Amino acid sequence: MSVTPELLNATAAHYRNGELFIENVSLREIADSVGTPLYAYSSAMLTQQYRRLDGALAGLAHQLHYAVKANSTLAVLQTFAKLGAGFDIVSGGELSRVLAVGGNPEQVVFSGVGKSTEEIDFALKTGIECFNVESAGELERISARATLLQKVAPIALRINPNVDPKTHPYISTGLKENKFGILQHTALALYQQAAADPHLQVRGVACHIGSQICEPTPLFDALDQLLGLIDDLNAQGITLTDLDLGGGFGVTYEDEQPFDVDAWGRHVVGKLAGRRLKLSIEPGRFLTANAGVLVTRVEYLKPEEGSDDDQQQGKNFAVIDAAMNDLLRPSLYQAWHGVLPVQENRSAPTKRWEIVGPVCESGDWLAKSRNLALHEGDLLSILSAGAYGSVLSSNYNSRNRAAEVMVSGESFRLVRRRESIQDQLSTEVL
Ligand SMILES: *Cc1c(COP(=O)(O)O)cnc(C)c1O
Repeated sequence: MSVTPELLNATAAHYRNGELFIENVSLREIADSVGTPLYAYSSAMLTQQYRRLDGALAGLAHQLHYAVKANSTLAVLQTFAKLGAGFDIVSGGELSRVLAVGGNPEQVVFSGVGKSTEEIDFALKTGIECFNVESAGELERISARATLLQKVAPIALRINPNVDPKTHPYISTGLKENKFGILQHTALALYQQAAADPHLQVRGVACHIGSQICEPTPLFDALDQLLGLIDDLNAQGITLTDLDLGGGFGVTYEDEQPFDVDAWGRHVVGKLAGRRLKLSIEPGRFLTANAGVLVTRVEYLKPEEGSDDDQQQGKNFAVIDAAMNDLLRPSLYQAWHGVLPVQENRSAPTKRWEIVGPVCESGDWLAKSRNLALHEGDLLSILSAGAYGSVLSSNYNSRNRAAEVMVSGESFRLVRRRESIQDQLSTEVL
């Protein structure tokens, strides 16, 4: 098989009588019904991942804020809202999505380096839990808008702890060279300024050092720094009540050791014992990545021309109907995703395939060098596609964005219909 049993076990997909299922529904049945490409999510796995993280912090006052940007499909947000999740947003659009599923605005934290005036006003009027402020300029603007609107803005400063999360440079955010957060030595003065401002309510401190973190030490280092800052502020008469450690918990895509949630939880619970702090975390990927798959159909096989020997050495291309516009992670980060046949097919010879899409870019590939037995027309499932998948999709090459379904037990629901060309043309005029 082209993926390890451990990986398959970590995802929502599993074989039953040679056919790939999510929960009790066959992916072939879903593809027959809604067409391909399609994203399918397991509601049971979304729930299970949420409960694992939540359970690891048992005994501590805490709140999970699901990072909406990992997957903002309304049905996914609704699943978490029903479990009592708060939300971490990075735009006004994401706030609108949270409100659309009945999410509680008093459990929404607003992160991001570029909050616009319009977005700040929207969040102030909605009454969100906290602005995680990323610069002195932003603090001033939030204060000015709150004054104008006669509101008091709850704030935390997002600290850049300058620790290396040991992950891909594109998803590292807590190093001095990254654009995110405020350095600790600047933060003290900003806290004093905020504490003296009647239109700001100083609530807490936040950080988020990166994504796909598999080893907890950098997260513990960041925690120690923030606790030190909290103590320094206390000595100056500024008491913080909220500590937000961000997200970044890693998952298995290939052979990574899964993030040890329970060991991490024990450490954090121990560190915070006896402190009157409410802990927040902002998981995104951990909750959704392995709950989702991208199902696609093989359009054409383009084996290396020549003999069997040439094909062993050369490039054999399997052109599928999903592309970089549907799942950008391989093109953007050279990310590895497991690829499995939806119907195990032992009749075709196994070859090493480059799995590529129809988009006119050489960077349009979904997987490289996979040993698979393929026929034209076969269905493939791209694993671990539930996070940073559909949210990063685009209309490049005027392709319609994929359909999405939520599987629950024996049944599935279409939760986002496939986009139509009319949808795409409707925003334009000649
Ligand atoms: C992206 C992001 C998260 C979620 O990161 P994951 O790696 O998906 O858990 C959390 N907080 C902030 C501020 C983010 O930008």
